[in-house]
Amino acid sequence: EKTVVLITGCSSGIGLGLAVRLASDSSQRFKVFATMRDLAKKERLLECVRGCHRDTLEILQLDVTNPASLASAIQRVPEQRVDVLVCNAGVGLMGPLETCSQEAIKAVFDVNLFGTINTIQAFLPGMKCRKAGKIIITSSVGALQGVPFNAVYCASKFAVEGLCESLAIVLQEFNIYITLIECGPVNTSFLSNMQSMDPEGHELQGLDPKTYALYRQYSQHCQSLFQDAAQDTDEVLQVFLDAICTPNPPLRCFTTQFFMPLTRLKLLSPDGSEYVQAMHKFVFSTSNSGQGPAGSGRLYLGGGPGAPLLCVPGMRKDTEQGW
Ligand code: NAD
Repeated sequence: EKTVVLITGCSSGIGLGLAVRLASDSSQRFKVFATMRDLAKKERLLECVRGCHRDTLEILQLDVTNPASLASAIQRVPEQRVDVLVCNAGVGLMGPLETCSQEAIKAVFDVNLFGTINTIQAFLPGMKCRKAGKIIITSSVGALQGVPFNAVYCASKFAVEGLCESLAIVLQEFNIYITLIECGPVNTSFLSNMQSMDPEGHELQGLDPKTYALYRQYSQHCQSLFQDAAQDTDEVLQVFLDAICTPNPPLRCFTTQFFMPLTRLKLLSPDGSEYVQAMHKFVFSTSNSGQGPAGSGRLYLGGGPGAPLLCVPGMRKDTEQGW
């Protein structure tokens, strides 16, 4: 019998890639319900699977912020049985907090937090009843640590971490595994899909000059971070696949070790001061703006005074580690 996987946010990026990967599995182990808010965008998914999906893929409309849409998607799944639920739909918001509209802030929480809650609520009773299931969440480094000018995005993703960590404690009684896949930057259209304040745009008029200068600096840092350190979707998908195929996956799986020194700092220095300093240095250090020595093409993750904690040539795993 096939493993039934339902994925949210499949019109692009990680969701699309995961749907294609699972639906094209050579042993046809999966039946994939690839869901998306707007079915007009289904062509890309269909092109990617190119006909090899007759028994393995079904595309459904699902807007995670709309309870009616969620209810009708569930009805389309035979016996409402979903073995693996992948909560992947998400949106970003980047800019100085004082320039973010209430509307934009609420939209982020609607999708990232309430959308995830709605989706889990819809499928949890069935999983409990069957005493089986996996819930996989596309999470983020920004769900574990604050990132400058991403306060709202991080707040929404932190909330999802609290949600899942709390659920995990009880769900083990039901043989249900909940797993957060902690992604660093991934080469998808996430950046271009997200709402972000253009440093040259009119939204920032009236912003104090210091925040403006810092935001400009952050925007550049973000661009080089994505250029130098973003992972390819395929690399990230392997971590999803491992979590789906392992009998008892852990609460968190990391797609990259790149940010681990920063993540560890939170635990090593619970008062937060070391993390705040290290992240500030990583993003705003004027000597190198996060870049390695001129021409090295390397991105440095600095932490505390002295040598960088980690330097990574591109995203290779054989990093020169100083931690
Ligand atoms: P993406 O923008 O290509 O994918 C996000 C998907 O969510 C899109 O298909 C979008 O249509 C969908 N979506 C948005 N609102 C929705 C709604 N109301 N209902 C249903 N679907 C909705 O980018 P991605 O990188 O593939 O993002 C997927 C997930 O990965 C997100 O949760 C994001 O926060 C997370 N993530 C991405 C990165 C990155 O750098 N790309 C890093 C860490 C985490």
